[in-house]
Amino acid sequence: MATTPEKIYALDFVERNRQALALLSDSVFYFGELGMQEHRTSQLMSGLLEEHGFKVQRGISGFPTGFMATYGSGAPVIALHTEYDANPSNSQKAGVAEPAEITPSAPGHCEGHNVNAAVMVSGALALRYAMEKFGIRGTLKVFGAPAEEQLVSRPYYVRDGLFDDVDLAFHDHISSDFKTDYGLMQSAMISATFNFRGESAHAAVAPWKGRDALDAVVLMDMGMAQYREHFVPGMSAQRVITNGGEQPNVIPAKAAVWWYFRDANAEGARKLFDQAKKIAQGAALMTNTEYDVEVMAAVWPSRGNQVMAEAVQRNIEAIGQPAWTEEEQSFARALQKRAGVKEDGLRAKPLPLTGPTRQGSSSNDSGDVSWKVPMVRVQFPANVPGINYHHWAAGAALATSIAHKGGLAGAKALAASVLDFLKDPALVAAAKEGFHRETGGVPYRSLLPEGQKPPVELNAVAMAKFRPLMEAHYVRERPVFRV
Ligand SMILES: [Zn+2]
Repeated sequence: MATTPEKIYALDFVERNRQALALLSDSVFYFGELGMQEHRTSQLMSGLLEEHGFKVQRGISGFPTGFMATYGSGAPVIALHTEYDANPSNSQKAGVAEPAEITPSAPGHCEGHNVNAAVMVSGALALRYAMEKFGIRGTLKVFGAPAEEQLVSRPYYVRDGLFDDVDLAFHDHISSDFKTDYGLMQSAMISATFNFRGESAHAAVAPWKGRDALDAVVLMDMGMAQYREHFVPGMSAQRVITNGGEQPNVIPAKAAVWWYFRDANAEGARKLFDQAKKIAQGAALMTNTEYDVEVMAAVWPSRGNQVMAEAVQRNIEAIGQPAWTEEEQSFARALQKRAGVKEDGLRAKPLPLTGPTRQGSSSNDSGDVSWKVPMVRVQFPANVPGINYHHWAAGAALATSIAHKGGLAGAKALAASVLDFLKDPALVAAAKEGFHRETGGVPYRSLLPEGQKPPVELNAVAMAKFRPLMEAHYVRERPVFRV
């Protein structure tokens, strides 16, 4: 990393605001807000950006908890985006190496999107003040992306043109490693609920009078199980039955099943979805029921740009791994032991650049961004290696010094890497040139059905139930970033 006065300034900004980063990260941890209900989180994040001179638009693309914060003018236009939602039933006390709920059965962070939020805001503020101090031209567009866990928001942002003027995009995400990668990283996915409707009847007295919607759900499940045999490698499908009727003596007039359809590429996910619709139609025919399909999300497989990843890697190596204390290491090993994974503690150094990386079976709604513009993912070491996400153990380190130090490293890598591109038009051009080669000219078109609107009611009931109980644990001190 060529050290420049701008970088020294930006890194120092992040460092001297380490307390604010930690407070922001912890605040979001204790908000523990589910996707589409991240009201307090997005208010705090966007409010901080606004106080420091960003022009904030809230409610973008019909997302009440989404925002876009803009600073600067002219080219290049650089987007920073990340997610900040929690998961259901994952309330976990920070710094406790055994299952321990903060609020019983409540939602909680169990991956680290709370740290993602703090890294993005800290990095953006460092950049904004570096741009002002050194007269750097360019525009920052900072996107808050709701409901990543249900893969919802960013395809809508891209569809609605919010990335039309963007040159490059940076996504930051927690990891147990300090790393970046390029190539196809994750899978495409379509998320849809199949709602079957029949007619109720007394299940013991006159079952012949009923048309059983749950039968249709079961038969669709059987059809999908048979079809699995014919999946192309890379395809996968997962489901939960969200409505299976109310009680056994009533034939269910309504039943619903929520599916995720995945494939290595967008076209494959669409094919799998089309076949599932035929299977649903067959199930409806067999049971004399009707059905409709509600698409909630549809994402492209996320990819990383090589030129951008190489730049990020140079910064990661220059910044280096946080120096972990013996206390942090012993907590990490205790957590690993309790979770039944290798007890090797926290990593001593960043990972080398991986690329082209092996495409994973998971998905992220940043995928659409990465087919619209060159994108890179900055991953920072703020969780414990070997721990599975969406498990109580993945929440235990998220409001501790491990998360704070890892987040600090992430914000520095993000700010330093964006500065490289703000200062060097040739590097921006190289990333764009690489992007055209990497995508092979595949045109981006949204997988979302025409006119699709965001599922604003998602998780509203659960959050309304738990929020009053969770409020007692909120961080009272507001983060203050100082210039
Ligand atoms: Zn995530």
